[in-house]
Amino acid sequence: MACDVVVVGAGNAALAAALAAREGGARVVVLERAPEAERGGNSRFTAGAIRTVYNGVADLKKLIPDLTELEIARTDFGTYTREQFYDDMARVTQYRANPDLVEMLVERSLDTLVWLRGKGVKFLPAYGRQAFKSGDKTRFWGGLTVEASGGGPGLVEALHGAARRQGIDILYGTRALALLQDERRVRGVAARQGQRRIAITAKAVVLACGGFEANTEWRTRYLGPGWDLAKVRGTRFNTGDGIRMALDAGAMPYGHWSGCHAVAWDRNAPEFGDLAVGDGFQKHSYPFGIIVNARGERFVDEGADFRNYTYAKYGRVVLEQPSQFAWQVFDGKVLHLLRDEYRIRQVTRARADTLEELAQKLDGVDPAGFLREIAAYNRAVRRDIPFDPTVKDGRRTEGLAVAKSNWANPLDTPPFEAYQVTCGITFTFGGLRIDGDAAVIDTEGEPIPGLYAAGELVGGLFYFNYPGGTGLMSGAVFGRIAGTSAGAAATVAV
Ligand SMILES: Cc1cc2nc3c(=O)[nH]c(=O)nc-3n(C[C@H](O)[C@H](O)[C@H](O)COP(=O)(O)OP(=O)(O)OC[C@H]3O[C@@H](n4cnc5c(N)ncnc54)[C@H](O)[C@@H]3O)c2cc1C
Repeated sequence: MACDVVVVGAGNAALAAALAAREGGARVVVLERAPEAERGGNSRFTAGAIRTVYNGVADLKKLIPDLTELEIARTDFGTYTREQFYDDMARVTQYRANPDLVEMLVERSLDTLVWLRGKGVKFLPAYGRQAFKSGDKTRFWGGLTVEASGGGPGLVEALHGAARRQGIDILYGTRALALLQDERRVRGVAARQGQRRIAITAKAVVLACGGFEANTEWRTRYLGPGWDLAKVRGTRFNTGDGIRMALDAGAMPYGHWSGCHAVAWDRNAPEFGDLAVGDGFQKHSYPFGIIVNARGERFVDEGADFRNYTYAKYGRVVLEQPSQFAWQVFDGKVLHLLRDEYRIRQVTRARADTLEELAQKLDGVDPAGFLREIAAYNRAVRRDIPFDPTVKDGRRTEGLAVAKSNWANPLDTPPFEAYQVTCGITFTFGGLRIDGDAAVIDTEGEPIPGLYAAGELVGGLFYFNYPGGTGLMSGAVFGRIAGTSAGAAATVAV
């Protein structure tokens, strides 16, 4: 089989690349390891929340033209300026994110979403999970205001619809195994389709087939001991194939290889993601309650920052607890603030009218330790500072070894609810080094001719932590760049 550009993977980054390459006139073939029914990678498991620069309602209207006057009047959308995006990327990655990559991500975010809209992807304001009522307005609080219509499944459907309309071929059940090279230049991909080995020759290849989060052995090898015990939030197919293929071809390993995005995830969730549940196993409302371990003790500042800036690093903290679990505990005052994912059927929950009764119901937890911890926590809350979920309200504890810095409420109002979580890994941070054309860089610091990369397998953007909604944005931005570059390279390659 022959074409101009082969794209490996069929998630968000890959389809952005395929569409961009096709736009430049290239004949594009996409290889997807999953069967058609499971297509869409991690992108399909998402809520479709996507972090973009916008300087007010006028920018949002470029993405959501049918935003009504009434919605605009009743909503404080605020802004998310390029400066805010730069600050967030720098702060949460402890100033390690590669500035060139961050610049591409930030500067091209809005324009890339406008481009995707032109391809048929629809966007909405993320009212459900990113805004709270405050006075007579609904206020967005975390820099993450836009989501794809229909969430991850809607995004993937829209991208596949666009690919179909553009005549892009997608081969399902086709696992890329190795890059074909002629001297240094990449000339295509060797793949397996069932029991058959096939070769697809091309003038350029885009790798967009995810990180190594679903590879137990690599997780343990690179993230460290204990990571074999994490649950995988999304696809079972992202086992690091693209990274391995590129390293075999001389690519430079880059970024935070021992780092990953990992969250609080239902203790009894399956080993890999379940497409029927999507991201529903996550439990992200902990800023409004407390989190305790098997000793009944708090171990992390639940209110250190807005949830969008802490959730991706707190999965690791849960993994480090005895028996790798924790309980999130809430009282009646805040139950109405819990996100939709707390109300799914497949949830590990305990409910009681007294704290003593709840203590007996928390599987694996020392009841006496738990009651001691709650008493100390309740005494430490600054009740004189008003509670406000739309800002970092400074309503905090004082005098505790583990502080809670915002949104601290005493647990004193029945009913009490608790949710058991463990660590769910989302994606890995380490990967390949790319340049401004999304060309893969080799260990000598030179681009490998004909090889491009985008999405999770690009290293250098995320270290330690991650601002919510950036995964899809980076996939779209770098996918588009990689596809454009690959398409251009294909027209000149001999
Ligand atoms: C539950 C969950 C919720 C999330 N929520 C959000 C959110 O709301 N917003 C956000 O920005 N991010 C979110 N993320 C992160 C986001 O999903 C990823 O950052 C992003 O989707 C990665 O896109 P990608 O195209 O690089 O990878 P993917 O979408 O995973 O696509 C990779 C594709 O490559 C295929 N593949 C793997 N190996 C091979 C091979 N050898 N040959 C051929 N194909 C192969 C896979 O089958 C897969 O289809 C979430 C992730 C999960 C798991």
